[in-house]
Amino acid sequence: MTQTLLDRVWDTHTVRRFPSGDCQLLIGLHLVHEVTSPQAFQMLRERGLKVLCPDRTFATFDHIVPTENPARPFADAMAETMAAHLEASCKELGITLFDPASGRQGVVHVIGPELGLTQPGMTIACGDSHTATHGALGAVAFGIGTRQVRDVLATQCLRLAKPRLRQVRVEGALGRGVGAKDVILAIIRRLGVKGGIGFAYEYAGAAVRAMSVEDRLTVCNMSIEGGARFGYVCPDDTTVGYLCGRPYVPKGEAFDRAAAGWKALASDPDARYDDVVTLDAPAIPPMVTWGINPGQSVGIDERIPDPAAVPADERSAAEEALAYMGFKAGQPVAGTPIQVAFIGSCTNGRLEDLRAAAKVARGRKVAPGVRALVVPGSQQVARDAEAEGLDEVFRQAGFEWRRAGCSMCLAMNPDKLKDRELCAGSSNRNFKGRMGSPVGRTLLMSPTMVAAAAVAGHVTDVREFQ
Ligand code: SF4
Repeated sequence: MTQTLLDRVWDTHTVRRFPSGDCQLLIGLHLVHEVTSPQAFQMLRERGLKVLCPDRTFATFDHIVPTENPARPFADAMAETMAAHLEASCKELGITLFDPASGRQGVVHVIGPELGLTQPGMTIACGDSHTATHGALGAVAFGIGTRQVRDVLATQCLRLAKPRLRQVRVEGALGRGVGAKDVILAIIRRLGVKGGIGFAYEYAGAAVRAMSVEDRLTVCNMSIEGGARFGYVCPDDTTVGYLCGRPYVPKGEAFDRAAAGWKALASDPDARYDDVVTLDAPAIPPMVTWGINPGQSVGIDERIPDPAAVPADERSAAEEALAYMGFKAGQPVAGTPIQVAFIGSCTNGRLEDLRAAAKVARGRKVAPGVRALVVPGSQQVARDAEAEGLDEVFRQAGFEWRRAGCSMCLAMNPDKLKDRELCAGSSNRNFKGRMGSPVGRTLLMSPTMVAAAAVAGHVTDVREFQ
């Protein structure tokens, strides 16, 4: 019988099946951060329970870390309490914590792959919506709530229903100036922010196969924005090459054996899917969101849609988005003035993202009146970027070079929009108030498009800068 990667991973991790069809699934890796874990640790204590598999549990600080000055104690008392709580819990329960002193701290979805904790065929859970990021390496990875964090800490298992599987094929070669962020924004625009409900997405096709692991991480990261439970890419030589030599990956012959096993997990060529959707890669332009969900996007050459012209079930959301953003139906998205540019997050805060953005910034200047931040996704990304001189490229162009963290993506730290500021951001959510001001506005785009917008002072086509 033919199988998909999802079938293989699900079957090998199923502890038992319930009459309802739900499964008790063993979780191979549990990633923890400071925001969703304190209550879970407290619930554990109240029941007198220990962490069942501390060696499969890893923690870091990301959301609350001030990126300008991460020295302790944090100025924000709430942030300091959260950090201290995580430190105490990890010490008490034997969990490895990647704090700033470890040199391995960073956004949880950046450090997992970077350290080789994330490996093909794993089941991975984390109390964070964007856990699907890890699917780029062929893992089945999903976000969980605080009670489920407690359950995984105590039992290393979760009760779950297996989602249906949609293969999303992106065929052909991407055009100049078009990258992984544009691909996932185009997918979400096509299928809708609710289109993936009940599904997992298997990303495939020539354009996905040609992507680096960093690019695949960007695509998988936003699976949840399209409503999918998780997303993944089948492991291949690119995956194996990325993992080789990473700290938590087997070495020598053990690596060769592991690599052969990883590649064997890939879906069979004639595997069956519940649905297959195909996108034409050459037709995808640089994308920009104009609204308040990641599905409300257009190509850089397009105009912001008229609610009267969108499907009836999207009309009121389009009207609400136009009102919040202060845009008019039919206005071109190119030329929209910005006040803030943010390059970073678990979507686009990796070394490749910074390299690509630095190429645009090199020899240019941030436009007057624009506040531009570059926030590496991890301490390792920061070190690698600094070794290549990328920090200097950004500084000379007028960008602020920050320390690792989530920064403005969710603004649970001092990096926030003010009032009605409009931010060109490389993150993953453009929800109302997402970046710290209840009336602040976000336009999602690729990191190169953010860099181009920063120097132009308005939304512009990155292809004119290359
Ligand atoms: S970078 Fe943003 S989306 Fe990613 S974990 Fe941090 S807050 Fe969440």
